[in-house]
Amino acid sequence: MRNPSGGWQRVASSTGLLAADGSSSPTIFAEMSALAAETGAINLGQGFPDEDGPAEVLEAARAAIASGVNQYPPGRGTADLRAAIAEHQARFYGLAVDPDREVLVTAGATEALAATLLAVLEPGDEVVVFEPFYDAYAAGVALAGGVLVTVPLLWPTFQPDLDELRRAVGDRTRVILVNDPHNPTGVVFDDEVRREVVRLAHRHDALIVTDEVYEHLVFDGRTHVPIATVPEARERTITISSGGKTFSTTGWKIGWVIAPPALIDMILTVKQFLTYVNGSPFQPAIAVGLRLPDAFFRGIAAVLERKRDLLRSGLAAAGLPTFRAAGSYFTVADASELGVEDARAFCLELPARAGVVAIPLAAFVTTAHRARYAPLVRFAACKRVDVIEDATRRLAASR
Ligand code: PMP
Ligand code: GLN
Repeated sequence: MRNPSGGWQRVASSTGLLAADGSSSPTIFAEMSALAAETGAINLGQGFPDEDGPAEVLEAARAAIASGVNQYPPGRGTADLRAAIAEHQARFYGLAVDPDREVLVTAGATEALAATLLAVLEPGDEVVVFEPFYDAYAAGVALAGGVLVTVPLLWPTFQPDLDELRRAVGDRTRVILVNDPHNPTGVVFDDEVRREVVRLAHRHDALIVTDEVYEHLVFDGRTHVPIATVPEARERTITISSGGKTFSTTGWKIGWVIAPPALIDMILTVKQFLTYVNGSPFQPAIAVGLRLPDAFFRGIAAVLERKRDLLRSGLAAAGLPTFRAAGSYFTVADASELGVEDARAFCLELPARAGVVAIPLAAFVTTAHRARYAPLVRFAACKRVDVIEDATRRLAASR
């Protein structure tokens, strides 16, 4: 191979994972966290908590390691974790799930998404996704040879226009991919959105893939409604979640898929060749977490809601009006009042100017639609109170 870099480049570009200019680049999260580390700025960019989760969960992992739970777990995940996932679905949502046939443990929600898309898509199949979207979605669709069709979520409500949704879904649609509560906007979809997704999936014989990793982080007295609970959704819904956000263990990468048995078998067929299995001592620990009392789950939502409020008022004082997030780790601000036209340039300057790192919303959209999101910035609220206070003070001082 005379030109090895060109050769590799061609392989990589066929995956659709290269940037628009043909370069391969780290994800926006890696880029911005590296910038925070380099400059010593406060990292309100990448969504990870800076405090530990419940002591019982951490202790269960230590105990598992100490007692020798260190070899490959079963391919579908340990029987006890699958039972805990099924119990969790029954307790919070009234859903009866068969832990042996309808649950698959994965290396985070990320692997669950990749394995699902690789399992269900044929090259050329369309995947309808709300935009902005979590970066792994476009990458997963590209790896599977699918075609991304986007439906915009626009400031100031971030709810989709149902006519646009109807226009996007057609007979070439294999998957409608939903993320609720939504990263990066913090929106929680209205009931009519969920119902329309299910109606359209039926009409066009599509699958629903739903990423509900922020299921326990919803605010203002609301409770999470899984799409699988909408009448007639279950038979065509693949529900994905993870222990990372709920138990503040984002580095453990214990996720799961819940779906009818035939779909689980298809996804397992792919998953076994991606990681085979992962995280044996973390699986019993996440099972302990899923069985914590209701008060724990209410508590984490209440704490994050207060942090959202603190972040919003701090950002407002810094001249940054925000969307009131109904869930998730994130709050989106409109920087146009500060004269910002390009939030990417603003975010690249922010560490030097204010000692804060944040993420431009345009990083979560297809190139053609960047202009719609140009002045919007995503801030992570899942940080210590003193960190949020310090960051927003710095932002206000840098105006
Ligand atoms: N989906 C969404 C919407 C996310 O925000 C994240 C967070 N990183 C993931 C999936 C990935 O979850 P995990 O860390 O369990 O792979
Ligand atoms: N989900 C996290 C976020 O949106 C980041 C995860 C990652 O770095 N891939 O910030």
